Amino acid sequence: MDLQLTGRTVVVTGASSGVGLATTRMLLAEGARIAACARDLDRLRVAIDSVGGIDPAAVHLAACDVTDRAEVEAFIGSVADRSGGIDGLVCNAGRSLMAPLAETTDEQIRAEFDLKIFGSWNLVRAARSALAAADCGAVVNVNAILSRQPEPRLAVTSAARAALLNLTHSMAEELAPDGTRVNSVLLGLVDTGQWRRRFETSGTTLDYEAWSAEIAADRGIALGRFGTADEVAFPIVTLLSPLSGYTTGTSIDVGGGVGRYI
Ligand code: NDP
Repeated sequence: MDLQLTGRTVVVTGASSGVGLATTRMLLAEGARIAACARDLDRLRVAIDSVGGIDPAAVHLAACDVTDRAEVEAFIGSVADRSGGIDGLVCNAGRSLMAPLAETTDEQIRAEFDLKIFGSWNLVRAARSALAAADCGAVVNVNAILSRQPEPRLAVTSAARAALLNLTHSMAEELAPDGTRVNSVLLGLVDTGQWRRRFETSGTTLDYEAWSAEIAADRGIALGRFGTADEVAFPIVTLLSPLSGYTTGTSIDVGGGVGRYI
């Protein structure tokens, strides 16, 4: 099936690892041009090089902290200058804060909301006119099932994700007159750098497979395992496709059945 992404320019934030890297790989395979960022440019270069067989003209890499408005505007400006336009935006960069509310500092709370809100809004407002000029502009905010189903051990992250989900709906309404669609993918537990880092610092005597299976059982994941980054990348790429042209203001759960709501 032709997803009609060939030659389109898509911005992916947090592309040096996990979901962002898998999405970049899948978009390149579909013939899209990529503008990718992360804070650590060297790590981003190594990660993108690992994809292999890339036409260098199809990839633009930059160091950019998505919480810094000036850096984001410079990055998006450089993409628009280089590519002549922007067709898609994947706001993926981020992390989570594993801590109950009482053990979270005010600075951590502010930083968490800063990252979740501005990690999308800085990009969306900078790219808005370029997306509006595209024939089928699309934004995908990478969010979490926590936005609908909070977990006390991720209290502030859950609240910040709920705020982003709510804001995504407003973005969809505000950008609809431009012809730009805005949607979310809501992740459950996905096997990426975040979980590998937690495994390494957990002090467990189990191997990664047994450790992650134990967590999957504890969290009540219906499919009994973590997801893969490719299993998240596919719905992201699908939402970016012009074939999804009538889908906006909604979200897709990618959580192996961990969401308990209807
Ligand atoms: P990874 O930790 O594997 O990768 C995170 C990426 O984001 C890296 O490229 C990192 O690069 C970049 N990044 C982090 N902070 C910033 C920043 N301020 N500005 C620019 N880039 C940044 O994450 P995942 O692939 O696991 O997660 C992708 C998204 O999905 C994240 O937003 C995450 O919170 C969310 N999510 C993940 C879940 C999971 O189970 N994996 C569950 C729910 C949500 P660098 O450090 O160089 O900046």
